[in-house]
Amino acid sequence: MDIKKFRVTAARKKNSLSLFLDKLDEIVPHDMPELVARLDAEMWKDVNCQECANCCKTMTPTFTPKDVKRIAAHLDMKPKEFRDKWLKKETDSEDWVNSTQPCQFLVNNKCSIYEVRPADCAEFPHHNKKPFDAYNDTFKNNLIHCPATLILIDRMKKVVEREYEW
Ligand code: SF4
Ligand code: SF4
Repeated sequence: MDIKKFRVTAARKKNSLSLFLDKLDEIVPHDMPELVARLDAEMWKDVNCQECANCCKTMTPTFTPKDVKRIAAHLDMKPKEFRDKWLKKETDSEDWVNSTQPCQFLVNNKCSIYEVRPADCAEFPHHNKKPFDAYNDTFKNNLIHCPATLILIDRMKKVVEREYEW
C-alpha cells in the first residue's frame, strides 16, 4: 500500500466524491445494497489492511464502556487506570477516544489487541452498515483516511453515473 500516493489521490478526488455522496443522500439507486456488496467485495481484492493501518495511525476509535472493560481486563488493568493512561473524553460528544495518534496498540503495523479491539475498529470502515447511505457523512470524513473507502466510493460514482439516471 503506497500511502503517499493514496494521500495525493484522496486530496485530488475528495471534493468530487463528497459531492457524489451528498447527491446519494437524495437519490438512492434502487439496487443500492446489491451494488455496494458487489463493489465492496471487488474492492477488498485490491486492498490489504495489514499493509496499510492508516486508520490506526491517523484516526481514533470510540471506546464504549464495554470496550474499556474488556480491553482493560485483557491488559490486567482497571478500567479507570486504562482510561487515565490512554484515553480522553471528547467535550462535545463525551465519547472516550485515544489521547494521541497513532493508536498505542499499533505495533509493527498490527493491532496488538486484535481479539479484544474496540467494536468501532472491528466494524471499520463501516461499509456493511445498513442502509449504506445513512453513513454518507462518515464515508465523506473517511475518504482522506481510508484507501478502502476511497476506492469503493470512486468505483460507485463511476458505476452510478454510467448506469443510472443521475
Ligand atoms: S485498537 Fe487496534 S485496530 Fe483499533 S485503532 Fe488501535 S491498533 Fe488500530
Ligand atoms: S480499514 Fe482502511 S485505513 Fe484501515 S487499514 Fe484498512 S484500508 Fe487502511
